[in-house]
Amino acid sequence: MSKTEPHQFQAEIQQLLNIVIHSLYTDKEIFVRELISNAADACEKFRFNQSSGQPVHQSDIAPGISITTDDKAGTITIMDTGCGMTHGELVENLGTIAHSGTKAFLKQLAEDKKPDVGLIGQFGVGFYSAFMVAKKVTVLSHSFAPDEQGWQWTSEGMGGYELTPAADLPRGTKITLELKDDAKEFAQEATVEGIIKRYSSFVPFPIELNTKRQNTVQAIWARNKSEIKEEEYNEFYTFVGHDHEKPLFRLHFSADAPLAIQALLFVPQRNFESMGMGRIDSEVNLYCRKVLIQAKAKGLFPDWLRFLKGVVDSEDLPLNISRETMQDTSLLQKLNKVLTSRFLKFLDEQSEKEAEAYEKFYTEYQRFLKEGIVTDFTHKEALGKLLRFESSLVDAGKRTSLADYVKRMPSDQTEIYCLLAANRAAAEASPYFEVFKERKFEVLFLYDAWDEFVVEHLHNLEGKPLKLAEKADLNLSAKKDGALSEDAVKALTAWLKETLGDKVGEVRASQRLVDSPAVVVDSDKFMTASMRRIMKAMKQDGPEPAAAKHDFEINPAHPMIARLEATRQKDAALAASVAEQILDNARVAAGILEDPRAMLTRLNQLLEKVLAKD
Ligand code: ADP
Ligand code: MG
Repeated sequence: MSKTEPHQFQAEIQQLLNIVIHSLYTDKEIFVRELISNAADACEKFRFNQSSGQPVHQSDIAPGISITTDDKAGTITIMDTGCGMTHGELVENLGTIAHSGTKAFLKQLAEDKKPDVGLIGQFGVGFYSAFMVAKKVTVLSHSFAPDEQGWQWTSEGMGGYELTPAADLPRGTKITLELKDDAKEFAQEATVEGIIKRYSSFVPFPIELNTKRQNTVQAIWARNKSEIKEEEYNEFYTFVGHDHEKPLFRLHFSADAPLAIQALLFVPQRNFESMGMGRIDSEVNLYCRKVLIQAKAKGLFPDWLRFLKGVVDSEDLPLNISRETMQDTSLLQKLNKVLTSRFLKFLDEQSEKEAEAYEKFYTEYQRFLKEGIVTDFTHKEALGKLLRFESSLVDAGKRTSLADYVKRMPSDQTEIYCLLAANRAAAEASPYFEVFKERKFEVLFLYDAWDEFVVEHLHNLEGKPLKLAEKADLNLSAKKDGALSEDAVKALTAWLKETLGDKVGEVRASQRLVDSPAVVVDSDKFMTASMRRIMKAMKQDGPEPAAAKHDFEINPAHPMIARLEATRQKDAALAASVAEQILDNARVAAGILEDPRAMLTRLNQLLEKVLAKD
């Protein structure tokens, strides 16, 4: 006697279904693509398990997909002879959140007034798109694992689903959709045929529609480039990338040495990691002579290229290689190196040939390039060439490469200067920028929190050392008029050190200031303020790391400093207060003033004095 088990959907799935059922009216047809893609994944999984020598249920049934439409009954059925699902897998896969997908997708829907349903597959919740068109979904499934039984899963979307044992099922999964009244067109063969053509031509398993074969499985990457149409590439990308947009970049290449490789790689328009998806996984499939060795192959590319999608085919791979042994073969490492170098060279070429597309690429993916520089010694140099930054000599909003920067360097400039700042306005107003402006040396403006580490790791580019502006050992070209005499400077700096005491390291006359009265400089040649902040944030327990000692540099040509020298002889208390304020102002400019309260109290007292003057 079969017993029906009622189950509840997890709350987030319920929420997702609510939206899918009640508010998504466009692009309904994508459910066909999603269910076929799941069927293809299941076939792939079956083929892999079979080829690795595991015992499988009904090993004589080849993996494949067949679709039937019944316009009288108003149904469409997608059946596959793939891996199927056990009771546990049905509960796990069709009712709970697989990963962060549901949440991320819901967030995307909530943020966007015209939600992009096409993305549903990207977020790993494609199955539920069935409920856009179906009032009831029935899944019959029998796992490939021996000694399992068949199960029937049914749901009307809201509320939950039911599981019942089902006898005499073939291996695989059969999904029947009872279509809603306004979705009956999907019970028409012609409609469905068009959709399969559009989305699923490249599925590497045979697809039949009402017993007619639909796709001819082709390895597009193995064909001659000149014979492949743009649309074919894009269709293939839709299939491998699970993405309905066109790719941003495409690289199709073949090589003979040092390894025989055919590769077709794509960069998606958008960086899915920045869309709340969490960490994405590489979606490059590894083939050997058109036979899939590993889907989403691990180790084929470095981690920082995990946004790539596509196919790599290498004849040099042993066909019987298993997933486990793949991990550590030196062959894989060799492949990785060749592929990565080739892709970076491609990016470099694109930056010249397709400047606009490269700009978009850089905006989306710069963090990945930087991750590479910091974590991957091998490709550091090539990655450095791909960096782009705003700079004091290019218009706001435009970026320059380091190579172009080096070309513009005057002969007396030996280093590449980088200034960390929140934005362009802050960079241009920074006291650290003054000496560069006066000397007419170009400075790169770095706005990203990661840039400091990038500069640290890159160290050198195009034969020139990279230098943070605040660490640069540069002097103004000429002494300024009206500057304090050397004796006066000596007396003032001594007095300042006495007055400020431990709050500062050394006090000296600055060689780098034009418009600002003073600046603080980290006394550690290598440490910077932002690095200290990060270190502090990382060190949660235990004693505070030693506070930074900052040297205090004054601008002897600044009227405020000249007045300070005069005032300290008449009104030492007022001068001391002003000196502390100048120091705090310099700390603000450096972004290292942690608690501004004491500073504000003092500033208010000073203002009061100014107003009381007359
Ligand atoms: P995704 O395919 O991105 O994992 P889906 O919502 O499309 O997300 O599917 C959820 C899960 O359900 C799949 O990962 C798979 O484990 C399982 N599944 C769906 N359809 C099938 C099928 N036809 N055969 C076997 N398993 C399936
Ligand atoms: Mg899916």
